[in-house]
Amino acid sequence: MVDDASPAARPWTPDRVLVTPAALGFAHGAAMVERAAALGASVVRMSGDRLSGVPGSYRDAKRTLAVVVASPSRRRPQPIPPSADWRFDLAEGCPAHCQYCYLAGSLAGPPIVRAYANLPEILAELPPLLGQGMITSRSEARRNEGTTFECSCYTDPLAIEPITGSLAETIRVFGAWDAPVQLRFTTKFDAVAPLLGLPHRRRTRIRFSLNADGAARFEGGAPRMPRRLAALRAVAMAGYPVGITVAPILPLPDWEQDYDRLLAAVAEALDGVPDPDLSAELITHRFTDKSKAVLDGWYPGSKLPMDEAARTRKLTRFGTGKWVLPRDEMAAMRGALTGSLARRLPGARLLYWT
Ligand code: SF4
Repeated sequence: MVDDASPAARPWTPDRVLVTPAALGFAHGAAMVERAAALGASVVRMSGDRLSGVPGSYRDAKRTLAVVVASPSRRRPQPIPPSADWRFDLAEGCPAHCQYCYLAGSLAGPPIVRAYANLPEILAELPPLLGQGMITSRSEARRNEGTTFECSCYTDPLAIEPITGSLAETIRVFGAWDAPVQLRFTTKFDAVAPLLGLPHRRRTRIRFSLNADGAARFEGGAPRMPRRLAALRAVAMAGYPVGITVAPILPLPDWEQDYDRLLAAVAEALDGVPDPDLSAELITHRFTDKSKAVLDGWYPGSKLPMDEAARTRKLTRFGTGKWVLPRDEMAAMRGALTGSLARRLPGARLLYWT
């Protein structure tokens, strides 16, 4: 069985909550502020709808929550291949401290968490997109998923759920839809208990971001792998479709054995789950010049392998460059990991390797 005896991570509690008047005008925003205050956060009410007093230091920013209203442009869903048809955001920013953080370089300014108070307006953008989407219509493996909506591109929504409550409400809304549709999110967190009894009607796929043991030291502030695996088992037992996002795949010294061991641990975690609906996404490590510069500032002295000499430069679809694993190494890792996946988890659907 999965060893889940390690102590539960304490839920994230910001030191400070900045809230705008417009955000307080939404019951959902006011409830977030109340929950944060009850956990001991100090609340600073803005006089207008622009944020002021945002801390500049990494440490203080990571302990700050802003409760704000998502503007019309921010709440407009965007196509987000290969993960899903559409992306929408419940929040931006994350309280964890991953030294490879995907948000570095893509979110501007100090790394505070911004949670959106106008959830009803955000969710109202989604129904017109039903039946539209590149991924579902083009991918045989995903045709039965319906239109897919990803809500974890710019945050880990479970990390902040004890304060926001946004994820539970979104799961309920997707569960109530009478249309082929799927909500998707990925997380490194494990506080799934409040989600287990929700009327999800199998319309939410919960994916856990997992990595080999050697990568754990790069993931500060996130629960260790056994806890994530225990959470995976719990949501699968509660009938949720589930997934594993193995990311970022790193060429650590014993990568082949370590990733195989990880996939064996996933199989063990799902042992006895009746008919699990399991997908897998395999994502190799990459960085850009911009993200590396931001990460160097956030985590000086990090041992994360980010040496350009050991990478290949590839153009992104936006015309900028990213540093990926060299072709031969990529091919060797792809062969080994997809082989391991097929052996350890023969029922898993591999959605993509990238
Ligand atoms: Fe960044 Fe994801 Fe880690 Fe949060 S959990 S710090 S979003 S990589």
